[in-house]
Amino acid sequence: MGKKEILKTNSYKHQWARHVARKTLQDDLATARALVKDATSRIDNLPITLDGKESVTKLLTKTKEFTGLGFVLPEEGKLKIGIVGAGVGGLFTAMVLDWLNERVQGLDIDYDIIEAAGEERLGGRLYTHKFSEKEHDYYDVGAMRFPNNEIMTRTFQLFKLLGLEPGKGGLIPYYLPDEDDKVCPSYFNDVNCVGYIWNREGLEDPFRINTGLSKKDEIPEEYVVVPKARIVLIGVRLLKKDPAKLVSASLYDFIKDTIEKFDNSRDEIENGESQGDGEQGTKLWKHLMKADNMSVHQFLSSTDNGPDMTRGPGYNYNTIEWLETVTYGTGWYDQALSECVLDELDFATPEQEEGKPKRNFWYCVDGGGQRIARLMAEKVKKPVQLNSQVVAINANVSKRRDPNTYVPMTLDIKRTNPGSKQADVRKEDYFAVLNSTTLPALQRMNLKDAGLLWGTKQAIRSLGYGASCKVAIKFSTPWWQIEPFNINKGGLSRTDLPVRVCVYPSYNISEIEEHWDPKGSSVLLCSYTWGQDAQRLGSLISPDTPDNEEQLKGVLLHNLALLHANEKMSYDELMVLLDKQYETHHAWDWYRDQNMSGAFAYFGPGQFSNMWEEIIKPNAFGQLYMIGEAASSHHAWIVGALESVIRAIYVMFEGLNSNDPNYEAYTEVMNLLSQAPQEQQEGELPSGLPFYPLPEEMPKRQDSTERGAPQTNDPAVKDKPLTYPAAIASLSLIESYFELVYSAQAA
Ligand SMILES: Cc1cc2nc3c(=O)[nH]c(=O)nc-3n(C[C@H](O)[C@H](O)[C@H](O)COP(=O)(O)OP(=O)(O)OC[C@H]3O[C@@H](n4cnc5c(N)ncnc54)[C@H](O)[C@@H]3O)c2cc1C
Repeated sequence: MGKKEILKTNSYKHQWARHVARKTLQDDLATARALVKDATSRIDNLPITLDGKESVTKLLTKTKEFTGLGFVLPEEGKLKIGIVGAGVGGLFTAMVLDWLNERVQGLDIDYDIIEAAGEERLGGRLYTHKFSEKEHDYYDVGAMRFPNNEIMTRTFQLFKLLGLEPGKGGLIPYYLPDEDDKVCPSYFNDVNCVGYIWNREGLEDPFRINTGLSKKDEIPEEYVVVPKARIVLIGVRLLKKDPAKLVSASLYDFIKDTIEKFDNSRDEIENGESQGDGEQGTKLWKHLMKADNMSVHQFLSSTDNGPDMTRGPGYNYNTIEWLETVTYGTGWYDQALSECVLDELDFATPEQEEGKPKRNFWYCVDGGGQRIARLMAEKVKKPVQLNSQVVAINANVSKRRDPNTYVPMTLDIKRTNPGSKQADVRKEDYFAVLNSTTLPALQRMNLKDAGLLWGTKQAIRSLGYGASCKVAIKFSTPWWQIEPFNINKGGLSRTDLPVRVCVYPSYNISEIEEHWDPKGSSVLLCSYTWGQDAQRLGSLISPDTPDNEEQLKGVLLHNLALLHANEKMSYDELMVLLDKQYETHHAWDWYRDQNMSGAFAYFGPGQFSNMWEEIIKPNAFGQLYMIGEAASSHHAWIVGALESVIRAIYVMFEGLNSNDPNYEAYTEVMNLLSQAPQEQQEGELPSGLPFYPLPEEMPKRQDSTERGAPQTNDPAVKDKPLTYPAAIASLSLIESYFELVYSAQAA
């Protein structure tokens, strides 16, 4: 890609998420009308007549005698919130609520943060395993690296607020590839190469990938099968090109096409030719739907995808396998194209400007990522209730006869004494529950009376989660940092062996440590796996790691020796060295972590456009919200968890405001959360607070609303459409009443 061709990744990603949210709100509106119609046809004392064209406001006007306006508090401005989970999402919720409490008069928010795990696992997927309390004796089992790109702004604002500044003891550079591209090995098809090989003169199939394949199955010398492609692939010799860059290039055409379609649709709306459902708007939606229903594999193998979808590059099976093997986990490309593209964009590292000093874009936390959670827990006003598992959520549906009285959500909380292991269950009432657990962890609670809508139940059960394992070995010296390896500035190596990816630490390296000790013990993240590779390695991981893991240890040392053997140190010599220097190890399978059952959301084809809305919308009469990384479009990043929190709190206040538009505190909260972001200086670490603005992925207006036209968040105002957040809050109320109360009555 030339310099001018850099895509505005941020706008693309958010436009897509916003578009999906807006379109699916219209589907929800249709569902709500159908629910009302169905209930009224079967219940005599529900005299509601619909013409099937009602807007959200109109539908609410027609139904409010039976639903009220929802969001009824025991006292104006007084909220008690149950926050389930103390990962970054749960802890951030408490920080936002503290911040609002301090600033807004007339607001009295109380909350509990309820966490199933004990002190050692505060932070959820912010998890650092410490082999001892010695300074660098750790590795990050969960989140470990943070790119300073536009999408991650809120993450860095949070770091700043927590006092994590660049420098030792704070944020230190994370070296994603090895800095000089000279020392990290790669090992595929039993061929070992060292350093970045893809720019080498005379390079021909370095890993002999085409050996033994018939002409038809070979990765072709040149791809010229896409005559109309704008991508830089024409004539590219695939076995000479960095596979990671090739994947980006392969998706480039699709992303560019999507942006063009967004622009055309926007122009159509701005020219007054349509409100989003004109010719260009329809083209855009068809394109997005096709893309979302395709797997990455399908797209890469496709050529002509019809008039609504970008042509694919037409790769053969082996080419796609090769790209997947070198860049992601086995089976990863069976997931949705949309998910892969969104992930690709989250990883986007801004290009270095020519002639200017090299800037750092990737960071990690010195001391480990779990420090983020510990600093957050120190900052929040109320202590986390540890060893406390939410085992049931109850929306008290049977008490909702009078829609204008306060009905709480009730949580059953099982507290286990970590010493005696004795447990007791207590009930606690809250106005609203913000659940930050993974969807699998939520699914196993007793949700029978949780007030969940059918679509949300489906989403909780079916949304895809990726598998991931990490294994670190503590060696008696940092052998990889010294002769003959010299891998002393981070980086990673890749292989098709079971360990798949070996990550060299960016901490405890001679580059940044004044007293770096070449003879001291050191930790190497020797295997980071995803997808099927993680499932397979996970079968060797025991719950009492490192015990009962002889087979795993054998595989790790053997793979490390194969990967690192070179002309100066043979495989056999390395096996002796590694065996001698091995002190202990630690292995983690995120699918077998009982409080997770999955590493991060990774949606399958069709799930983003069909199911995402189901977890971002409120349930249980507007009193239950799904937050956390799955409930955002930034899956597998902590920024996703942060954005989901702002969305949920904002929507909840829209609901409160709908019920009580004259209570100023609610409007003030909405103003605070939606204020303009602080201007950022390019290249510097972001400044400002992480509590605003609203996430860009959340629409501000409904699909049928003209851009710039006046809107309201008060459903009593009849001549203006409701804002998107107010509409979603109102719809949740209507759907809850008619799906959970009246349909049940009619059944
Ligand atoms: C292997 C791996 C690598 C990653 N790498 C990065 C990275 O480099 N950079 C990045 O930004 N992000 C990364 N991520 C993603 C990031 O870690 C997550 O997006 C983020 O930490 C999720 O936070 P959360 O609050 O949504 O969920 P969680 O952290 O999962 O928090 C949910 C909490 O709920 C608790 N819980 C579960 N059930 C119950 C219950 N019944 N009652 C009470 N509590 C319960 C859990 O114990 C947990 O503490 C990575 C994740 C993984 C797994």
